[in-house]
This record gives sequence, structure tokens and C-alpha cells, in this order.
Amino acid sequence: MKVSIEEKSGFCYGVVRAVEMADSILEKGEALYCLGQIVHNEMEVKRLEEKGMITISRDELPAYRNCKMLIRAHGEPPSTYEIARKNNIEIIDGTCPIVRKIQSGISAKSAEKDVRILIFGKKGHPEVEGLYGQSPEKSFVISSVEEARNTQVASILHLYSQTTMDTDAFAAVVSILEGRLQQAGGSLVVHNTICGHVSHRRPGLKKFALENDMVIFVGGKHSSNGKVLFEVCREANPRSFYVGEPEELEKSWFKDVETVGLTGATSTPRWQIDLVAERIRGF
Ligand code: SF4
Repeated sequence: MKVSIEEKSGFCYGVVRAVEMADSILEKGEALYCLGQIVHNEMEVKRLEEKGMITISRDELPAYRNCKMLIRAHGEPPSTYEIARKNNIEIIDGTCPIVRKIQSGISAKSAEKDVRILIFGKKGHPEVEGLYGQSPEKSFVISSVEEARNTQVASILHLYSQTTMDTDAFAAVVSILEGRLQQAGGSLVVHNTICGHVSHRRPGLKKFALENDMVIFVGGKHSSNGKVLFEVCREANPRSFYVGEPEELEKSWFKDVETVGLTGATSTPRWQIDLVAERIRGF
């Protein structure tokens, strides 16, 4: 059985940057808190927590003072920075520069007259909360193409996307809103903010899934981009499986298989994919 690893698999640039920030502080022996899971990958979180990092939730933040707090690549709303300032918390800002640029864009646009901001993303997702928080009074969030049919529209509507949404779904949302705004005499300004580190992987991933008898996709249970990229594999090759760690593999899946392709989410570290490959080779 031949096992190959997709060459683009491994952390995306934004996650590498945040994880490197955490590693460098922990290696100096300093105490570090992280606001929310640094990455939607249980094994990587465990690795950093074993080095001393402590993960806390946003609800717990007001109780912390005089410490170092890492903001992960998803970013945070302005209210988080405000609490940190009041509580003398030193922010180690791991917000991905791509997310930071979208946040600044929303903040600038929302200052204009008669403008509303629509964010296409998963409600409650930390990145979406960070985007929404730039202008809560002028923003609203939709999570599905269906919601685009019913959501309120405005005379000038700026549409943004969570960076990991599906490109086809975003295109469908644009098409629906364009039609609705045309009818209502308004205008839609589209900001395609889906991250290239996710969307550009689609064609290569599809080809990779077709080239192999089966695909093992490694990703965290709560990884949005993992779900999107896994679907690309499954559509191309129905014999695709999603696993969070090597122990979830079942030997029976590999019956009569000659080629196995391994890949993962942008939040899956390369070392984790290597561990899964090792276990498959053991079969
Ligand atoms: S997926 Fe893109 S936007 Fe999100 S952290 Fe990675 S590089 Fe940044």
C-alpha cells in the first residue's frame, strides 16, 4: 500500500504565525494564557498546554489581570482589547494579518453614512464575532444561502465573508443579494474575503483525491475549514474518511486499497499528519 501526503497540507500561514508566537514565549519559561483554543486542533492544543499554556474563554477574561494573553489567528472584537487595557493584560496579538485587514475594512466602511455590513459566516464562530464586533450596531450575520433570501437589505450593503466559507455558497449569496438589491433600488458592494490559503487548495485537493484509492483527512472536530476541505475530497472520492487522531483509524477501511492519500485542514499540523501516516504504514 502506497501512502502519500498532499504537499500543501499543514498549517496555513496565519496559524503558523500564532503558534510560533506561543512557542517562543513558552520556551522562555514565561506564563502564557490563550483566549480560546489557539487552533481548532485538539492535539496541537494539548502539545502547547503541556508546555505550560493555559487556555481560557472570553467569559473568563474579565477575571484576569497583569498577565500575558495570546489572541489567536481568528482575531477578537475591540471589546477584548478594551478589557485587556483596563486589566493591565499584555496582549500577544496572533490575529492573522489577513483577518486584521478585513476587520479594519469593516470598521472603516461602517463609519460611512447609510451603510450596513453583512457578514456571511458561522454564527458564534470566533472569527465572525471579531468581525461583527467592529461595528455591532451596523452589522448582521447570515450563515446560509437560505438566509440570504430572507435577510433585511439596506440601500448600501457591504458583504464580507468569514475567511473559511465555501466559495460556491458565497457566490450563491452574492447572486441572491444582487437580485434583491436591484429590485429594492439599493447597491451591493462585494468584498470577497474568503482566504486564498483555503480556497486555492480546492483544485489541488480534488486532483489528489481522484488520484488515490482512498483519502484520510486529518482535522479537528471544530475546524470550519476542515469540514469545507473534507467535502471537496469526499465529492471527488467517496472513499474519504475524517479523523482527529491516529487512534481513530480502522484497519478494515484499508481492505483492497493500493493508494492512500493523506491531507488535512489548515489548522492541522504537519507532524500530526505524519503520525497518521506512520500508523497506516503499520497496518
Ligand atoms: S485560513 Fe487564511 S485568514 Fe485564516 S488564519 Fe489561515 S491564513 Fe489567516
